[in-house]
Amino acid sequence: IQSYPKNYRANLPRNMIENSMFEEEPDVVDLAKDSTTFPALDPDEVVYEPRSSRLLVRGLGENEMDEDEEDCESSARLLGMSFMNRSSAHRSTSSPYTRQSPPRSCSRPSARTLVVCVLFLVIVVSMTMVLYFLPECTFTKSGCRKQTTPAEPVYPISTNGEMFPWAQLRLPQSIQPLSYELTLNPDLDKMTFTGTTVITMTVRHDTKRIVLHSANLNITKATFKLGDGKATDVTVLEYKPRQQIAVKFSEELKAGQQCVLTLNYSANLSHTYDGFYNSSYSDKDGNKRVLAATQFEPLSARKAFPCFDEPSFKATFQIKISRKPDYMTLSNMPKAKTTSLPSGLQLDEFEKTSVKMSTYLVAFVVANFTPISKNVSETLVSVYSVPEKKEHTEYALDTACKLLEFYNSFFEIVYPLKKLDLVAIPDFLAGAMENWGLITFRETSLLVGKQSSLLEKQVVASVIAHELAHQWFGNLVTMSWWNDLWLNEGFATYMQYMSLQTVLPKLDIGNLFLDVRFRALEKDALNSSHAVSTEVNTPEQVEEMFDSVSYEKGASILLMLNASLPGDQQFRKGIIQYLNQFSGLNTDTDNLWNSLTQVDTHSHQNVSEMMSSWTSQKGFPLVTVDRKGDQVTLTQEHFLLTSDNLIMFCTFHSLWHIPVTYINDTCSLTLKVPQSIKWLKLNHGNTGFYIVHYGDDGWAALIDALINNVNVLTPEDRASLIHNMFALSRLGRVSFRQVLSLLNYMTNETETPPVTEALLQLNNIYRLLDKRQETDFVSRMKVRILSYFGSLMRNQTWDEEISVSKQELRSALLETACNLNVDSCIRQAKALFKKYVESNGTAHIPGDLQRVVFTVAAQSEESWSTLLEKYSKVSYDAEKRKMLQGLASTQDTRILKEGLQGNIIQTQELPLVINTVSSSFSGYLFAWDFIQENWNQLIEKFPVGSFSIQKIIKSTTSQFSTQAHLNQVQGFFSSLKERGSQMRSVQEALETIRLNQRWMDRNLPSFNEWL
Ligand SMILES: [Zn+2]
Repeated sequence: IQSYPKNYRANLPRNMIENSMFEEEPDVVDLAKDSTTFPALDPDEVVYEPRSSRLLVRGLGENEMDEDEEDCESSARLLGMSFMNRSSAHRSTSSPYTRQSPPRSCSRPSARTLVVCVLFLVIVVSMTMVLYFLPECTFTKSGCRKQTTPAEPVYPISTNGEMFPWAQLRLPQSIQPLSYELTLNPDLDKMTFTGTTVITMTVRHDTKRIVLHSANLNITKATFKLGDGKATDVTVLEYKPRQQIAVKFSEELKAGQQCVLTLNYSANLSHTYDGFYNSSYSDKDGNKRVLAATQFEPLSARKAFPCFDEPSFKATFQIKISRKPDYMTLSNMPKAKTTSLPSGLQLDEFEKTSVKMSTYLVAFVVANFTPISKNVSETLVSVYSVPEKKEHTEYALDTACKLLEFYNSFFEIVYPLKKLDLVAIPDFLAGAMENWGLITFRETSLLVGKQSSLLEKQVVASVIAHELAHQWFGNLVTMSWWNDLWLNEGFATYMQYMSLQTVLPKLDIGNLFLDVRFRALEKDALNSSHAVSTEVNTPEQVEEMFDSVSYEKGASILLMLNASLPGDQQFRKGIIQYLNQFSGLNTDTDNLWNSLTQVDTHSHQNVSEMMSSWTSQKGFPLVTVDRKGDQVTLTQEHFLLTSDNLIMFCTFHSLWHIPVTYINDTCSLTLKVPQSIKWLKLNHGNTGFYIVHYGDDGWAALIDALINNVNVLTPEDRASLIHNMFALSRLGRVSFRQVLSLLNYMTNETETPPVTEALLQLNNIYRLLDKRQETDFVSRMKVRILSYFGSLMRNQTWDEEISVSKQELRSALLETACNLNVDSCIRQAKALFKKYVESNGTAHIPGDLQRVVFTVAAQSEESWSTLLEKYSKVSYDAEKRKMLQGLASTQDTRILKEGLQGNIIQTQELPLVINTVSSSFSGYLFAWDFIQENWNQLIEKFPVGSFSIQKIIKSTTSQFSTQAHLNQVQGFFSSLKERGSQMRSVQEALETIRLNQRWMDRNLPSFNEWL
């Protein structure tokens, strides 16, 4: 799944203890006392579920980097990795995340990168980590028990009053589904459907029950057949709080037996964005057209059909859907045949899936879409949309074909299905969903107009690249459980950047990936973050895994690994091996590292050992460089912005295995750096997931070098310095004066990555000051920003711009300029809008300028109304979204209510609207009030813990920096109880406000002097 097409960042952790151990028990009865009805325990119950966490405390010792006489090679060998010379200091043509052969020569000023695996010691005291050592508890009244004495489970009560024979969130392992036959009869007039599900299963070990998932389904009839026996009616028990149903048997089902459960049911089509849900749109004649589509990941397949709804229960699926003759249907597989039913309906039957797949990947659509198609080797690739938007599908088809070809050869495993559909759904919450053979998209993530800029195409191509990568990472090989969601999402995210760099280099995706890595570091610096691989149990915790740690940090550490492996094919060979070894199966993180370790024959580096330090603990290291004479010492510690709320239960030692890269102004490869060498920059290309502090002298030397000649470092390295400096300021290691002294070089800076990073950081501070109404500092900050970027802003054109990188640069600069009320910017934007309105929409505003133009225009009441009118007429969604951002940027906050109602503005856009309203001074308090007043409605539309809710919380709270606001936010969320008080994003919000407050307290007094 792709949560948001671009530039999303949001999220984070919840205290596990509250969820896993103190969860309030619903109505339960202790049947252990009632031995007559007590079912035999099967092995699933007597064995405690292992905690999935793999927080390893590695006793790797204190290999403090030895900076003695050894030359690089020997020290590298000593440390278990060979070193590599890599790219030049000048901007290399290759991206930082595709591997390349190391250049052999070294020119001046040379850049040598030494990759050494350095082991450092860091002491981490963490409450969360302590929890891992606490004994496991199941939901029993008697609390924790020792492993040796099986707990007597406390069985809940089914809806019919009978005892429900299962007491855990996860399903028992005693039954394995083999195949499903689904027949669905949706009625789009009544918004209901009926269904029949026939599940063929095998008994893994003796048991007296079958337990599976079902949610909001009214089961009308159930029959059961064992082996070749006769089908008999059975009673289905339901326990709604866990969305489980069960059938109990008086005689044990024996291991190895096959059985068939047939369930008939009826249900309403869902009115939210998950399960089997209805959607509508207006066609070109203004008629309302309805359709039905599915979104099952992570836990909603059970809302469309009863099933074993956990990713490791893979099975085959055969699907039949009835429809009215003027509709069409789509599913994962090609259509096998259509028959006419006596009722006048048509019944479409799809081929049985040729692959075993997880339930969350099943999909179907009933609509009247039109396709365009093309063949790629054995696969028919099609893009579907509503008929009115067919002309916007060509780019997607072309891109999908190119990417499919690329992945087929990159993975050396051909996409296994005969068809691949990409479908634009008018109501769709996520960016897209990778259902096998039937990828569903939000319209903005798939459709682009002929006039669209490359930047808009970049969004579409990224989402397609991500979802196609999932056909291998996720669909072919699937994580065993949601704790390892990153195996799906981190990989798909990494592959999306990697593949586009090769397949569509013009899209210049590198800047976006760099930005994504910076933002991931910011999240992961919080105490409320979590390990990449983290235990999850409840549905809310599963939802919360769809966050930047799984996606962006996951992708970042894969880049780091690829960049640190010797040889440019090793990473690829490793993942090919992994895909082959586990094709059709489920895996956990260790399986991946083991596969990558196995192909690593050239070096002594143990991938498993290195990488598990990045996936089993939260956060990342801060590497501090200390140069004394010719000795360079590197030390590491956990880069943790807040540590004051930790309870010091125990200390333990933890460390990261960091592939350090560095660049300096000589060809030297020694770690003993002669004093004649002026500066040293670590983490070349920012491919490593860590932050570096160079100390006062180290920073001064780098700043000096940049002021003399910005080109001594690559744009990525410059951006990395800027990012790291601001991060250190937030941590309190450098003063704001040091930040400003680095920024002094900005007047010579013209490249996109450093400029956009500096703008983003400065804008954040500007907004905080603005919202505290520090008017004096606000105007001084404005002067500062203009002194760095004023001339670059003036140099920007307002015509079509071809280069993506220049579009990114231009939109960042002009949005800041207009936001700071720079006259010339406002004038230009207004003029463009006027031309656009007068031409009746035929004069095109370049895609990268639309947001700034619409935002400026929306500030006048008259233009706001014009814009709203245009909004309801424009059919091209990317443009529409930018209009919406304009509309939401003003004092007129009607737009929030409209978003909630979903008439003029689709409810799927509400998180974007809230985010935009929150960023303006006039709107941010209003947005905060709005979410408090409408919380119940919001969590009805967007599940607790979901990406959308994470984003909404972050948008409305991240700009607070006072005690009063902290109290308000704390008060509101703690009042929510089961409606979301335990969300990780709430903890993140509170932590962020405290950090804002701390930063302001520390720095405001000195602003007078420095700013
Ligand atoms: Zn995804």
